[in-house]
Amino acid sequence: MRDRLQIRDVGANAGERAQGFLAIGETPSMPVQVPLAIINGSEDGPILCLTAGVHATEYAPIDAVMRTIQSLDPRTLRGAVVAVPVANMRMFETRTGFVSPLDGLNLNKVAPGRLDGTLSEILAHTLLDEVIGRAQYHIDLHAGDLGEMLLPFAGYALTGDRGRDEMGEALARLYSPRLISLSTNGGTIPPFADGLVYAANQRGVVSLFAESGGNGTLDECDVQVHLNGIANVMRHLGMIAGDVASAGPRVSARDRTVVRARRAGLLRLKVAIGDDIGAGQEVAEICNVFGETVERVCAVLGRRSGVGLHAERDDGHDEISRRQGRPDHG
Ligand SMILES: [Zn+2]
Repeated sequence: MRDRLQIRDVGANAGERAQGFLAIGETPSMPVQVPLAIINGSEDGPILCLTAGVHATEYAPIDAVMRTIQSLDPRTLRGAVVAVPVANMRMFETRTGFVSPLDGLNLNKVAPGRLDGTLSEILAHTLLDEVIGRAQYHIDLHAGDLGEMLLPFAGYALTGDRGRDEMGEALARLYSPRLISLSTNGGTIPPFADGLVYAANQRGVVSLFAESGGNGTLDECDVQVHLNGIANVMRHLGMIAGDVASAGPRVSARDRTVVRARRAGLLRLKVAIGDDIGAGQEVAEICNVFGETVERVCAVLGRRSGVGLHAERDDGHDEISRRQGRPDHG
């Protein structure tokens, strides 16, 4: 029989569920708190922590965690799920992207946080110490934020511990439909060293960074990527019944290049996220406030200076990096 699982005032016996709020601090008018759900299975198994809403205008991952909480049955669950559907409630309430309106900080860039810091730093510390740190496995669910689009991917920060790293990569492959990102300290691809996922990994939790959705939207296909990923991970860990969906070929990111605009204005993309691009192809234009085009961004070939991600396929073909290029300001 499993033990009761208790996090402050929220506790569930084996075979039960519970939900409530963790107090983080207060503003002059109201408390700052984090919603927390515990689904404690009736059978022994691992504890999986799910967090979403670190960036709280990323709605597909928030919805996926909400739906997971509602769909799990503690009577048949092996192990337990500890879930935070919206980590940053003030961003959720105010529809604020990237940084908290309370202190101007990005919750995914202040790990491991501190108890005597600002509210985002206290929040990071509390999540890592009292919630994520209670689990053996963790998934931090994200999407592109407001005005941000991306290809779905799952990432893991390599630690050098072979056993944990093999599990982390396996879970990333099971979560993502196509692209995975295995980062090293100081590298150019996420998860980065100041994020919750990296900090959790350093504490011995096998922690994934999972992205699907973006641009302030809530599309069912984006939610399904997260729901399928969560279910696949839980099946692999033996927490729920069902076959693990077969993992097809994955593209493993090695590097990325950030292209900064030289002119200010409105960006019009000429390609869709995930499209293959060729040398000379126009990928975007920038127009000024009067609508006059002031910059065209075109691709040129370049292995180390490509647009977007350098990547290699599982079969060893360096397909994507050959097709990417450096912007040509024409
Ligand atoms: Zn995010």
